[in-house]
Amino acid sequence: MAEFTISFLVTLFLVTLGTTIGYHRLLSHRSFKCPKAVEYVFITLGYLGFQTSPIWWTAMHRTHHRYSDEVLDPHAGLHGWKRSVYGWIFDEKYPDHVDKNVVCPDLVNDPYYKFLDCGGDVQKAHLLNGFTNFMVRFAILYFFGLPAALGSLLAGLTMQQITLWFNLLSHMPQYGYKNYETSDDSTNNYFLTLLTLGEGLHNNHHAVPGSANNSMRKGEIDINWYIIRGLQKIGLVGWANDGAAHRLESSLRIKSAKVDPLPVPSEAVQMLHEEPSLVKS
Ligand SMILES: [Zn+2]
Ligand SMILES: [Zn+2]
Repeated sequence: MAEFTISFLVTLFLVTLGTTIGYHRLLSHRSFKCPKAVEYVFITLGYLGFQTSPIWWTAMHRTHHRYSDEVLDPHAGLHGWKRSVYGWIFDEKYPDHVDKNVVCPDLVNDPYYKFLDCGGDVQKAHLLNGFTNFMVRFAILYFFGLPAALGSLLAGLTMQQITLWFNLLSHMPQYGYKNYETSDDSTNNYFLTLLTLGEGLHNNHHAVPGSANNSMRKGEIDINWYIIRGLQKIGLVGWANDGAAHRLESSLRIKSAKVDPLPVPSEAVQMLHEEPSLVKS
């Protein structure tokens, strides 16, 4: 039982960092800079938490920010909870209004991410992710035994569920509070913050998406930011956006926030803000 528990907790911690710091703050928002090797380590950890293709994940997430809680938001709650949590991941291809070359020009030519994206065949990419995850657990079984393999597998699947449910719950204002009056339903939720080491400060994140630090007022704890700062101190992370310009003075209050543009290459930003065409005919 001890082996199972240790394996579960260690894996959950690592795949959480891979997802929250790697897929989210680094790839999707470019909120800090680091050497490519460090980026690949983070992304590989997230991949082992069943997060599937980094290009697909990033494209969907940047689209989520672009159209938060609108019809074109891939996992908006208005699609109904089943579609919002699970339905959207069963789509066979990228949505018609999401051209990965436009939304992720900084990722589409990366050979590692290109390989994991399986030519844009979303289901094939998911299958490759599932297969790789199970193969890695077989390797753990071989070297460390069954309890360690099962603990690690369960942690990976847990992270997958946390991410899927997060998309819905972090946009339910009845379960949290807002610091900023954003144009979407994003909310700061203590439980989700604990579970994801800081991502649950989601209203703050939607207000200042380019910040690597989600804590925007006293008392808000963002473990992921402490980890990024720690990595910065030992030289594994370079520049990081600390979001200081947007911090709130002290007590909770609603502030009208002008949302920062996504920190992706300038051509991409320009294109992200062009009027979308819904369906290509
Ligand atoms: Zn959101
Ligand atoms: Zn985000």
